[in-house]
Amino acid sequence: MDEFIREASSLFESRFGRAAELTAFAPGRVNLIGEHIDYNGGRVLPCSLSLGTYAAASPRGDGAIRLVSADMAEEIVSSADEIAALPCEPAAFSGFGWAAYPLGVARKLMERGYALGGFEMAVCGSLPRGSGLSSSASLEVLTCAVLKRLFDLGLGGVEASLVSLAAERDCAGVNCGIMDQFVCAMGRQDHALLLDTNTLDYGYIPFDLGENELLIMNTKKPRRLADSKYNERRAECEAALRAVGGLFDPPKSSLCELTPEEFDTVSHLLPEPLLRRARHAVTENRRVALAAEALEAGDVGRLGRLINASHDSLRDDYEVTGRELDSIVEAARSHPAVLGARMTGAGFGGCAIAIAPKAAAQEVIDLVAERYKQETGYDCEIYAAETGCAPFGEEPDK
Ligand code: ADP
Ligand code: MG
Repeated sequence: MDEFIREASSLFESRFGRAAELTAFAPGRVNLIGEHIDYNGGRVLPCSLSLGTYAAASPRGDGAIRLVSADMAEEIVSSADEIAALPCEPAAFSGFGWAAYPLGVARKLMERGYALGGFEMAVCGSLPRGSGLSSSASLEVLTCAVLKRLFDLGLGGVEASLVSLAAERDCAGVNCGIMDQFVCAMGRQDHALLLDTNTLDYGYIPFDLGENELLIMNTKKPRRLADSKYNERRAECEAALRAVGGLFDPPKSSLCELTPEEFDTVSHLLPEPLLRRARHAVTENRRVALAAEALEAGDVGRLGRLINASHDSLRDDYEVTGRELDSIVEAARSHPAVLGARMTGAGFGGCAIAIAPKAAAQEVIDLVAERYKQETGYDCEIYAAETGCAPFGEEPDK
């Protein structure tokens, strides 16, 4: 961690010619289970990671905003007045490139009445970008944490996640659910966060896998289809809800309000592929509840079986896995000691996870790397996940 704080600080000094007033960190996240249901009112069970995004920042008296990233060539220059005057729409922010995320956050904070001045910020990151570990939410939440401290904002973690989500949706133009921003803001080290995306009720469960560890397996496959298919799945779920939600008393306002048993009574009314899309949402939500129980009880074997079932549902019913994710998951499962494996994130590439005994982890890593390369031609990257602390995670928000 220190190494990245130093990198952000020295980038700040070399670009802006003075020492930064503060440094900050926001984690990325890995979702254990509860995939593609944060926009269906379901519950999700992610962890914040020790990998994340770092910033060094100072306020500026002249209202100018200057942003640099160690990973991007261009410096972005704007001003608090310019940002305040922009409409919250992707076309207004697209010219800022990567800085659409931090500037979108600044804009959304202003929209909520927070007074911001000019500032300079240098960022760098230890997360792979565009791989389903939420580097975008990490950058948004990081910006909230920085601006809160620079301008002494009375901003809590739940509000910071809503501001970050609004920036990602309205300013960056990515129509995502609340999970990523929420856990990047509110996660705790050594814990998983159980979040009800309908009510934003949340709680923490100690993340203790005993003799096992969680492996993150990056397919290194760019998520090319992800955006268009993501929107298609959202639309299919909305259509399924319109078809059956009103048949209940009171009517269901999201798919995950249906229990699997209720779903069975109406599923015959749904045409394909809506039937399978909705079935994924409803059964995945049940699996999250069971997985939370298993984690709490220390039953890692059961957690692994639920993780397997989640992947199978995402592959067969939701159809968001694809050849590379299926291949890496099957490679992990082919090792007899692996307790479970599944894709994580939006799908169509990006990362998968596996639970393996610590004693067998290196063997699993070698086996997966070899098999995956043989089947797909890609070199994957696999490492043990470490949880990390989110900037608002320890605050008394509720
Ligand atoms: P994911 O959130 O899964 O990593 P996204 O495509 O949603 O993938 O977000 C990746 C984008 O977030 C990058 O293309 C870049 O615009 C921005 N981003 C993330 N981390 C950084 C960083 N350290 N510096 C600059 N931009 C970043
Ligand atoms: Mg993202």
